Amino acid sequence: MKISEIFYSIQGEGVLTGVPSVFIRTSGCNLRCTWCDTPYTSWTPEGEALEIATILDRVRASGTSHVVVTGGEPMIDPAIVELTRELRAKGQHITIETAGTVFKPVECDLMSISPKLANSTPWQRDEGRWAGQHERTRYQPEVLRQLMALCDYQLKFVVAERDDLAEIQKVIADTGADRRRVLLMPEGVTPEILNQRSIWLAELCKEFDFRFSTRLHVMLWGDRRGV
Ligand code: SF4
Repeated sequence: MKISEIFYSIQGEGVLTGVPSVFIRTSGCNLRCTWCDTPYTSWTPEGEALEIATILDRVRASGTSHVVVTGGEPMIDPAIVELTRELRAKGQHITIETAGTVFKPVECDLMSISPKLANSTPWQRDEGRWAGQHERTRYQPEVLRQLMALCDYQLKFVVAERDDLAEIQKVIADTGADRRRVLLMPEGVTPEILNQRSIWLAELCKEFDFRFSTRLHVMLWGDRRGV
């Protein structure tokens, strides 16, 4: 698998925030979010090809029982099926972080889906070269339904403006998602920006009765890799 990085940290987002976890970050993505916080897995994908046995060795070395398979978009690599099967055989708790545009019959305990809203489309970036493909690909309600049926799930949305709420309500209506599993997160890659937008978003969560999620790793360590 093409792997960008493997590191041991704490989960910074969603219902498992604070849980020590080893992160396997695959490289490569079928989307190009304008605000992508891991451009080294999407806009300019980098990494090394690792055997699954090597990945499992590094997971074991971390000593934790929680594994997060993230990206990039980990579901575009066919090998994720075997990887998650092996992780399950070793008794790991598996979270998959995905944008929810591709289905694979993976082993998983928490499907952590972050559907991308219109605020992600890169109209202004790279002369809009990726905007058309991104726009066609970013929302796949049937795939979302399949992923949500596979195991426990959460839907995490990056919110940039108030208008995003209407789009989130549509995703919930289209997919039949349980509102209690929906979390809203502020956009931002520095603690200062995140703090400012968190205060704004917390009020929006109160108004629309949604659960708020911080991005704890950004608050603690800022815009850094491997945390
Ligand atoms: S789906 Fe994730 S990795 Fe891919 S471009 Fe968007 S934010 Fe980046």
